[in-house]
Amino acid sequence: MEKTLSVNAGSSSLKWQLYEMPEEKVIAKGIFERIGLPDSVATAKIDGQAHVRKQKIVDHLQAVLLLMDTLIHFNLVDDFREITGVGHRVVAGGEFFKKSALVTPEVLKQIKSISHLAPLHNPANAAGIEAFLKLLPDAVSVAVFDTAFHTTMPEKAFRYPIPNQYYEKYAVRKYGAHGTSHMYVSQEAAKILGKPVEELKLITAHIGNGASISAIDGGKSVDTSMGFTPLGGVMMGTRSGEMDASVIPYLIANDPELNDAQDVIDMFNNRSGIKGVSEVTSDMRDLQDARLSGNKNAILAYEMFVDRLKKYISQYFGVLNGADALIFTAGIGENDEDVRRDVVQGLSWFGMEIIPELNVRGAVGDISTPESTVKVLVVPTDEELVIARDVEKFKKELKK
Ligand code: ADP
Repeated sequence: MEKTLSVNAGSSSLKWQLYEMPEEKVIAKGIFERIGLPDSVATAKIDGQAHVRKQKIVDHLQAVLLLMDTLIHFNLVDDFREITGVGHRVVAGGEFFKKSALVTPEVLKQIKSISHLAPLHNPANAAGIEAFLKLLPDAVSVAVFDTAFHTTMPEKAFRYPIPNQYYEKYAVRKYGAHGTSHMYVSQEAAKILGKPVEELKLITAHIGNGASISAIDGGKSVDTSMGFTPLGGVMMGTRSGEMDASVIPYLIANDPELNDAQDVIDMFNNRSGIKGVSEVTSDMRDLQDARLSGNKNAILAYEMFVDRLKKYISQYFGVLNGADALIFTAGIGENDEDVRRDVVQGLSWFGMEIIPELNVRGAVGDISTPESTVKVLVVPTDEELVIARDVEKFKKELKK
């Protein structure tokens, strides 16, 4: 039986999901956390049961070795040769990768060479790829890029209005992120709406810890809120989203703790967003608890969060000149009924209305009223499945 692993390696984590393909059946999944840090922990979910193991994990290679142990221990594979494919999520593909790529030494080199576009992610993604190449050298190894889906953006959308030389010499432009998710949920939405995606104008709102909004015309991304790096766009768990760049030199000149541009960017990435304003948490569940218990900073953080979502979604009604549906996905988009209600109520002018009884936690599908001219959908994302499917495509081509 052929099996495929979907892998998402972060700087100190590695998430995995094992599929039986082409049946697309999830056999097991898990995560290694705090790799290279004290108190590393490995969690595997098999047959609905979580198995937690605490042990020192020094690097990604050791995590992959432990994963192989786990797969054998729980009889999920008898022989590693059963794992015929490994697909890797890679955050930044720059201008090199317009679609998924078979991993070659050249591809690996290019992934590393564009690390400035995702300094936390690309080196970790490459480390994950290298670890699997060592342990499963015969498996088909595929890189799936978060940016690939957005390479269809027209130049007017991906360029920044700064002198051309900075694009031409340094490729400074908008790349976006979460592309795999925006693509998947737009295709699933088309099924729910009963129309080919080619005939639809969709606005997808991937709202998790990281968040981005996309305008999708006929199945192609035509604009997205994240930019040169994932710092752009809406307010997020710990990221500011869009900022006036003039704040950077001003803070360096005035705040003794911010010494250079990197310090300020780190603050925008890691200490801002919901965390920075609420001063309580970066997590939406905790923010909701704090807000409902009357914490003023939490109330403000929530209002700012919803406000930014509304502004970007409205922009995309402009980009698309109208839309058939708004799609909510990811941790907050799928689970937080208050965020969905407040965003939709605040944009009711555009013709959106939801049925309160349908707008509940765990809702999936169309939650809008029959009169709603713009449909509102909740579509759980599944980036791992897209990755496994891409591996399958390469496997088939190689067999030809
Ligand atoms: P990422 O993949 O970017 O780390 P996720 O898509 O997992 O993020 O989303 C994480 C966010 O989703 C967190 O802010 C978390 O609080 C929120 N979330 C998860 N479940 C719920 C829930 N039931 N209600 C509200 N927010 C939730």
